[in-house]
Amino acid sequence: MAAPKKGDLSASEREILQVIAAGNVQQASKLLANNDVRVNCLDEYGMTPLMHAAYKGKADMCRLLLQHGADVNCNQHEYGYTALMFAGLSGKTDITTMMLDAGAETDLVNSVGRTAAQMAAFVGQHDCVTVINNFFSRARLEYYTRPQGLEREPKLPPKLAGPLHKIIMTTNLNPVKMVMLVKENPLLVDVAALEKCYRVMDLLCEQCVKQQDMNEVLAMKMHYISCVLQKCLTFLQERDDKLDALVKSLLKGRDSDGFPQYQEKFIRDCIRKFPYCDATLLQQLVKSIAPVEIGNDPTAFSVLTQALTGQMAFVDADYCATCGERGAEKRCSLCKTVTYCSLTCQRLHWFTHKKMCRSSQEQGSKQETHTPRLKELQGTHHVIHFICAAWLHHRAIHCWGTYQLLL
Ligand SMILES: [Zn+2]
Ligand SMILES: [Zn+2]
Repeated sequence: MAAPKKGDLSASEREILQVIAAGNVQQASKLLANNDVRVNCLDEYGMTPLMHAAYKGKADMCRLLLQHGADVNCNQHEYGYTALMFAGLSGKTDITTMMLDAGAETDLVNSVGRTAAQMAAFVGQHDCVTVINNFFSRARLEYYTRPQGLEREPKLPPKLAGPLHKIIMTTNLNPVKMVMLVKENPLLVDVAALEKCYRVMDLLCEQCVKQQDMNEVLAMKMHYISCVLQKCLTFLQERDDKLDALVKSLLKGRDSDGFPQYQEKFIRDCIRKFPYCDATLLQQLVKSIAPVEIGNDPTAFSVLTQALTGQMAFVDADYCATCGERGAEKRCSLCKTVTYCSLTCQRLHWFTHKKMCRSSQEQGSKQETHTPRLKELQGTHHVIHFICAAWLHHRAIHCWGTYQLLL
């Protein structure tokens, strides 16, 4: 079939564009079964049905079109926009992920030289920026599930690729959350499996440093995951209550103020152990964390999160006190000062929170005036310049969004 020409649409193709706008998946499915509907047809502006669906934020429609062979990297659009760019502009992370899973190139630029991540940042869709910048293709990991060279067996058993990929793709770097991800998959709660996984993470880290356009951010993330997996391994081998003991250690607050100092020290250690000392990102991280007394802002977690995901710690959302998930809506009913994403998380936290819960109640109104969000804002400010510097080093994407938030 000849390549579609802009604006050269059949009646059914015009109809499907309207159906997409209305979000009628059933009708779209019917139309796609027609011979005179080309899934990659182009309207007057060079937009495909997939671009329309992505821009309108219709996830089911996008899925349907991809199933019918929609070309995710088509860039016949008059300004060179791709479906991934439209997904980013729509602010829908599920659609952005869908495009990436379908093989969307993140490096394609529009007619003014902007990538999808840069465009999403420009319009303030920071969650989509995070999704794009943290994307790591399953194929890249699956390389290790095949024996290479003289290897008798692959470095990574194929059955571990799925669960490990899930951990790589998480944008919540809270170590408790990561241990929970390990715990939820019985295949991973195994000494030999964890050993293989962390070794592969180390290799990926090395690869990210040594590849042509060195990606320090991804390298640091791979290294950090490796450290968490190694910690899991240690607890599996040495403690009777295994990973539960690790979660407890990470959550346990110190007596004076409930600050989880084991967690803070663990994350600081991970950063310090990054094996490539010359990395700009490492030096900047260390510089901004080292002078901070343990217990003060910014925490190592917030600095690392900002550097790796570009997420600002003070965006308007409540975080789960246990696992760091955003959008936590359940409050401790006694002190009402801590929030959780689930009952499970609240239960996990109670052994240590109960010591602080009473004093929180007593302080009552005093705490109201010092909301954690404001405290974070102060702490965040002085790390911003370094994140920008780090990002300018390779494709400055996050700083865009960062500046936007500040200006
Ligand atoms: Zn939680
Ligand atoms: Zn409480």
